[in-house]
Amino acid sequence: MIEPSLSTEPPGSNLARNIETQAGENYRDVDLSKWNDWKWQVKNRITTLDEIKSLISLTPEEEEGIKRSGGRLAMAITPYFFSLIDKTDPDCPIRKQAVPRIDEFKIENYDMVDPCGEDSHSPVQGLVHRYPDRVLLIVTDSCAMYCRYCTRRRMVGEEQQPMSIEMFEEAYRYIKSKRGIRDVLISGGDPLMLKTEHLEYYLKRLRSISHIDIIRIGTRVPAALPMRIDEELINMLKRYHPVYMSIHFSHPKEITPEVEKSCGLLADSGIPLGSQTVLLKGVNDKPSVMKKLMQRLLSIRVRPYYIYQCDLAVGTSHFRTPVSAGINIIEKLRGHTTGYAVPTFVIDAPGGGGKTPVGPTYLISQAKGKVTLRNYEGKIFEYFEPA
Ligand code: SF4
Repeated sequence: MIEPSLSTEPPGSNLARNIETQAGENYRDVDLSKWNDWKWQVKNRITTLDEIKSLISLTPEEEEGIKRSGGRLAMAITPYFFSLIDKTDPDCPIRKQAVPRIDEFKIENYDMVDPCGEDSHSPVQGLVHRYPDRVLLIVTDSCAMYCRYCTRRRMVGEEQQPMSIEMFEEAYRYIKSKRGIRDVLISGGDPLMLKTEHLEYYLKRLRSISHIDIIRIGTRVPAALPMRIDEELINMLKRYHPVYMSIHFSHPKEITPEVEKSCGLLADSGIPLGSQTVLLKGVNDKPSVMKKLMQRLLSIRVRPYYIYQCDLAVGTSHFRTPVSAGINIIEKLRGHTTGYAVPTFVIDAPGGGGKTPVGPTYLISQAKGKVTLRNYEGKIFEYFEPA
């Protein structure tokens, strides 16, 4: 078997790319071996007002937002992700995702602390059991960067210790006792922020449960910290197949040569990759932007999986669009591009109702023995059913 190339030299040299971008000027002197070291990236995240002010000129809304954010979901941006920001454009879609704004402190009547009802479906600490045959295991509160629209902002970003062994073992006992559970989604925070051996401990233990069929990992790391996808991690993950990965992407600007490489390594190691994208006002709510993202994802071997309506999490109202914006995006994808590039648009029903698909209606009417359909061009067709 040919092992994937794990050279530390990035395709197209990310240093060269960063030097070309205005934000990248700030990293001109950084050695490539440091730039490609994920621990260097984490250690050098931009976390303070002074640091970011030395890199870009902030709007008053951003400056106030940064001053007021702290503790949970404090600002943290990897130099890599920061290098994607267009520093001349306050509306840059990368910047909007990463830099706090004062709007985060506006609270609407219907905002919720725990919009997906995870806490009320948690039989033991760190475990959410909301659907019959699968569970969510929250193993850390740390992420490479903190997305300003995070739905788990109630628990993410304080960078406490990851889930303790005792807590994990309690979750493990619960999973082992429920024979109906066949799928464990490991998420956080971001599980790929853990040390490889720490993550391996969880995977090994879960694989020892005979009724666990698949393990899924939910992560934003391949997009926000692609250098984390290294040989050690890949070789470890391969030992615990079937492992699936859901990767969080928001905008086509995130699909860089580095990201293409990280997803290529994961795909070559046999991990099926799916994407999850939150629909965000001013970031990806135009059908043309979403179509480009979905097509670019397919080209790096990531199958678009879900587009989420932005949850009712406290402090995210400025990112929300009407539901019709998401329906319109699906309308502009279905039939107009490869079917693989069309994800399911869902609303996570507030309070714990689960992911509920919504989308354009193609079934115009249903009568005895006959259904009337419209296709993506608006043309009407009849289909006759067996008597
Ligand atoms: S990576 Fe996920 S958990 Fe972390 S801040 Fe972003 S949305 Fe929240």
